[in-house]
Parts: sequence; structure tokens; C-alpha cells
Amino acid sequence: MNTTLRIDRLRASVEGKEILKGLSLEVRGGEIHAVMGPNGTGKSTLASTLMGHPKYEVLGGSVTINGEDLLEMDVDERGRAGLFLAMQYPSEITGVTNSDFMRSAINAQRGEGNEISLMKFIRLMESNMNTLEMNPEFMHRYLNEGFSGGEKKRNEILQMMMLQPKIAILDEIDSGLDIDALRIVAQGVNSLRGADRGFLIITHYQRLLDYITPDFVHIMMQGRIVKSGGPELAQRLEAEGYEWVKEELGIEDETVGQDEDEFSMPMNTTGPKIR
Ligand code: ADP
Ligand code: MG
Repeated sequence: MNTTLRIDRLRASVEGKEILKGLSLEVRGGEIHAVMGPNGTGKSTLASTLMGHPKYEVLGGSVTINGEDLLEMDVDERGRAGLFLAMQYPSEITGVTNSDFMRSAINAQRGEGNEISLMKFIRLMESNMNTLEMNPEFMHRYLNEGFSGGEKKRNEILQMMMLQPKIAILDEIDSGLDIDALRIVAQGVNSLRGADRGFLIITHYQRLLDYITPDFVHIMMQGRIVKSGGPELAQRLEAEGYEWVKEELGIEDETVGQDEDEFSMPMNTTGPKIR
């Protein structure tokens, strides 16, 4: 069966503040969806909420993967259900080597009694690292420790290539990448493109989408998808920024800054009605 991730009017908060305010989106196997939006609009919150990060509290709505309630699953189960997140800010873990980490992740996914053989694992890891033009020494480095921003991002894509998820969420995978690294990372993503795999690509800039052509582009503002279209939408954002979207939809200015109060939106604004 073709995988389907269905997000329906999802509401979620972090630190007691509601960030996702009724977000709906459906990603099917074979589709690449790009979610674009200004900083602070809740894109990473969406990714973390989908993965079950304990800091993010679901207030309402539903998320299913192939009809199963994702929000009821613990983080491991979400992984086994085929969900994967490449993080915007991957954590550094001292004392755990990259290969140990990846092998544990693969074995957790495969389940007890079905562990991957060491030889097979090493061959798989070497071949994927080769595709991503990563130095073999990264196998034995501690996870993300002392990795540059670009190396961390490549390593996230490496994990994705090793785990072969059904639904892959990539959060700002392009940030901190120079153009060569961007091309390589995009190659990795494109190599996994297929009828049985869906992608949710979160990005602030259109640049990445020159290398990974999305089927759908969604604009996220104030914790919701406010507009959806095809790749031309991303191009218009690149050319004109987000102002026209706000004007078109009558959205009050979204100020993002150090001042949290400035960002929070009054709940009774006559925002766009979506669905
Ligand atoms: P984006 O990824 O679109 O830039 P985020 O989802 O990271 O936006 O953040 C949305 C809002 O939620 C911001 O105001 C941010 O400060 C807040 N936020 C996100 N994660 C946390 C957290 N762990 N603790 C406190 N506030 C958070
Ligand atoms: Mg973010």
C-alpha cells in the first residue's frame, strides 16, 4: 500500500505557547512537498511534533500514518512506522560513534532477531558515504561532535539513506551548506525519490528547490498552511518574499525577534480561513 501521512488541523504548543494552530497537510508516497515560511512560524515545531519530541504538546487535531494514530506512538514506534526526521540542529553525542549510532538505529528499525550483519552494515555505510562524498573517518567519529554545519547535514542525509524511511522530513537541510554540499545532499535525496516514499522538505529559501523539484509547495505562516501550489509558488517567494502572501490573505505582520510577545499573535485576528 502507498504510504500516507495525514495531518489534520494539528495544534501544538511548546513551553505553554501555542505554535501550531490547526495545520493540515497530506503527504503520500511518491510525492515531494516543500513547506516554506518565515522564521519563527513553527516549521521546526511541526517536525518535532511529528517525531514526538517530549517538549511539544499536542493540543488538538490528528496525525495518522497509513491510518494508524501517529500521536499515540512513542518515538521508536514512529521510526518503525517509517517516519524519519533530518534535524535542523542535530545533537552532538560524545562517546557514541557515528557507526555505532547508525547500526543501533537500523537494528531498532529491523527488530530483534533480524539485526543487520556487521559486514553488510559496513558495506552499506561505506557505499552511502561514498555517494555523499564523506570522508570514511566520519564512521568512527563521535556523533556530530566537532562536525561543521555542513558535515552534520550530510550526516543526517546519510542516516536517511541508511534507514530508507517511508516518510522523510528534512528540516532546513540546506542551511549552512555551500553550493557543492547542497548539490551532493540533493543528490542523496533524489536517489531516494520513489513511488513508495514521501518527502516533507522544510526550507526557508527556494535555492534547495532548484535541485530537488517538489510536486507541491506550501506556505506556512502563524502555525498553519496558508497557501498551497506548485513549484512556481517557491519561485515567486524567492523573487518577491512573503509580503504579497500576507497582503493577499490579510495576515497581520509577523514580527520575529528576541521579544516573544511581539511574535505571539492575537487569537482572534481575522486570519485566513483554511479548510
Ligand atoms: P521555524 O522553524 O519556522 O523558524 P520554530 O518552530 O523553530 O520556527 O519556532 C516557532 C516558535 O516556537 C518560536 O517563537 C520559537 O521561539 C518557539 N519555540 C520553538 N521551540 C521552542 C522550545 N524548545 N522552547 C521554547 N520555545 C520554542
Ligand atoms: Mg526551524
